[in-house]
Amino acid sequence: MKPVIALVGRPNVGKSTLFNRLTKSRDAIVADYAGLTRDRHYGEGRSGSRAFIAIDTGGFEPDCTSGIFKEMANQTRQAVAEADAVIFVVDARNGLSAQDHDIARYLRTANKKVLLAANKAEGMQSGPQLAEFYELGIGEPIPISSAHGQGIRSLLDMALDDF
Ligand code: GDP
Ligand code: MG
Repeated sequence: MKPVIALVGRPNVGKSTLFNRLTKSRDAIVADYAGLTRDRHYGEGRSGSRAFIAIDTGGFEPDCTSGIFKEMANQTRQAVAEADAVIFVVDARNGLSAQDHDIARYLRTANKKVLLAANKAEGMQSGPQLAEFYELGIGEPIPISSAHGQGIRSLLDMALDDF
């Protein structure tokens, strides 16, 4: 089985940009994977010779109705349950939000390998600018730029190194 990596985070942090970069928009052939429904949010990626399945989440952007927020939360929970590893994406430029803390609280109880990716970090160092993200209790923030392709390879290596 290919390892499954879920991308979670609040809207607009760059999950879909990361997903597109990881999967290069290849459609996943997921019919063979028990428990995974055929869904446009799944894609197949490769890192060297290793293949993996990525899951994008948060396709339902918030429109200020509780039903939509609930649906996003359900989608995130389902993706985390299916995943071998989770990439929790935060926005290095906008900083922490209450929603980041909510997601972090959930992920700390989920008993999965979680990597904290500080996206939109093009031109930033992994020092003081990212220090606030330690507050999430997820570990070291890993600076990446999904738009510019920076830090993606080492993030993937960390996500896949147990599998
Ligand atoms: P999602 O809602 O988490 O899926 O976020 P999207 O992938 O739709 O991206 C939200 C916005 O952030 C878009 O305008 C992207 O172009 C922008 N974005 C994504 N990744 C980066 C990045 O690495 N750097 C910068 N500066 N912007 C980014
Ligand atoms: Mg998206």
